[in-house]
Amino acid sequence: MTCPRCDSENVRIMVTAPVDNAWEVYLCEKCHYSWRSTEDIHISEKFKLTDEKIDAMGVIPPVPPLD
Ligand SMILES: [Zn+2]
Repeated sequence: MTCPRCDSENVRIMVTAPVDNAWEVYLCEKCHYSWRSTEDIHISEKFKLTDEKIDAMGVIPPVPPLD
């Protein structure tokens, strides 16, 4: 199981269908993308995340609280 968006293998099952295990929802621990097992996912290259993009997101300074 790999994340369709960032190709990480750090994926866990977030939710399982209440009946018959008909589907599962997976969550990528790396980029927080989630998807359902029954979806046929095609992510365009434009929206794919690379390690560089994820690292870049991490260096954006948080917005300071307004007071
Ligand atoms: Zn991911």
